[in-house]
Amino acid sequence: MADYIHRQVIVKGVAMIVRALMIDSAHAATSIRWLATTMLCLLILFGAARTCAAQPAPWFPDAPTFTHYDWSGTPCTGCETLVARASWRRMAELAGVPEVRFRLAPDETQGPAYAVAPDIVVLSRAALELKSCQLAFLVGHEIVHIAQRHFDEDAIALSVLSGKPAHWTALGEAALQLTDGDFGLALRVAHLWQAQEAEADWLGTLLAATCGCDVEAGALAWLRQDEASGGGLAAAHASHRERVQQIEAYADMARRLSARAGD
Ligand SMILES: [Zn+2]
Repeated sequence: MADYIHRQVIVKGVAMIVRALMIDSAHAATSIRWLATTMLCLLILFGAARTCAAQPAPWFPDAPTFTHYDWSGTPCTGCETLVARASWRRMAELAGVPEVRFRLAPDETQGPAYAVAPDIVVLSRAALELKSCQLAFLVGHEIVHIAQRHFDEDAIALSVLSGKPAHWTALGEAALQLTDGDFGLALRVAHLWQAQEAEADWLGTLLAATCGCDVEAGALAWLRQDEASGGGLAAAHASHRERVQQIEAYADMARRLSARAGD
């Protein structure tokens, strides 16, 4: 009898284990199928997100590889947060710097638009009143300064032209202050500033064109308002008249880009 009971217990135990294994196998198979489906969905979503994320424009220059200075202490005194318009965001993405932030200037003293290193575009209230394509040109111009890291380029050039040893400072502002009271140094670096401004005009015009802005209604209309403005000895910007001439030289390319944007 004890033997019989013992055998029955063993048979029942084995049956329970087999049943449990069968249930677990079914659960395991279900879990694997669920996991595989989830992974597949995640991969599809990830791929779609990558496809939808705007890529830098193929014609926009690669990001520079020279030294990054520390700009963390650079103030944007009195600036207020500004909600970016869709076209500004798109231009930042096309330039490969989607992280650009936008701020409202406290006043007009620094002009309608300027960039604060390393990643802020500041616009004045007057700039926000401009027609959208004129404003797009100004924003595109400042985005180019950020994307091409003109601040870092200036810091390097000023350090070299001042005869400073390599890595004498990691602070970008310290390097820029080398021009304080040194007109000769400003004169020597002015050719670089003007090249940077020409690059910002050129690529900024193309960024605005890619967002559907006509070059006549945007860059050229804005610069022609006051053609005598800008220029001068050791000035960063050429005169507006010269900038118009430079932009007109490649206006056809901008027109073709803005025509394609409307397709
Ligand atoms: Zn500029």
